[in-house]
Amino acid sequence: MQRLVVDPHQIHARQVVLTAEQRHYLGRVLRLRVGDRFIALDGKGQSWVAKLVKAEASPFEAELLEAIALNTELSVAVTLTMALPKGSGFDEVVRQATELGVTCIAPVISDRTLLHPSSQKLERWQRIVQEAAEQSERQIVPTLLEPVPFSTHLRNMGDRPSSHYLCVTRSSAPHLLTRLMPEPSRSITIAIGPEGGWTEPEIEQAIAASYQPVSLGSRILRAVTAPVVALSLVAAVCETQ
Ligand code: SAM
Repeated sequence: MQRLVVDPHQIHARQVVLTAEQRHYLGRVLRLRVGDRFIALDGKGQSWVAKLVKAEASPFEAELLEAIALNTELSVAVTLTMALPKGSGFDEVVRQATELGVTCIAPVISDRTLLHPSSQKLERWQRIVQEAAEQSERQIVPTLLEPVPFSTHLRNMGDRPSSHYLCVTRSSAPHLLTRLMPEPSRSITIAIGPEGGWTEPEIEQAIAASYQPVSLGSRILRAVTAPVVALSLVAAVCETQ
């Protein structure tokens, strides 16, 4: 069945008031008709079988029939903190991180970040997160935070109970996998640097703020490849326990 994320505010007593964009998607793109069913998700963990029904003021609305118990989420909450890569590289990072089960995506502007995103970029990334969550059959739509300077991110960390891993190249840092085994902590943050890498002061400040430096192996991965490797390791460890 096709999947559609609806905002909880659209649900009133089991009726879903669809937006024009959602009607277009269900009717024109998916070619569903009155009586057809799809899966509605609120993006916060709840899913239902829904049916298209006739409506007075619009071609159709949707009715929630029954709640369904699905669980495709990772057992740990993972935040990806990523220095924005140049060009449109972050589009792919956002899509792949969502497919791999990330809970929160926190873009940061580091000393060597070249991209300073417009508000249109943020809207675009939000749309990609939602599409990827639907496509990969997630129950939640990951949170996408607004970009902040890396120093602000470090200041805001406070003493949240999370294990923070800073991916660094060319170092004797332990491999991320050894930090996730035998059991990862319930909440993990993984930070990936930009194309030019983290600067030494950034690494020092991150360690002072409780980040642990980790390696992803002996080869230098592209900034857009590194999050895929790191998140695949987290997913593999969680899903084989
Ligand atoms: N010349 C840069 C350097 O040596 O750091 C290359 C940076 S790399 C293209 C971009 C980011 O991906 C790095 O800052 C790091 O966070 C992550 N990364 C890439 N390969 C890695 C590896 N083998 N181990 C850990 N992190 C890696």
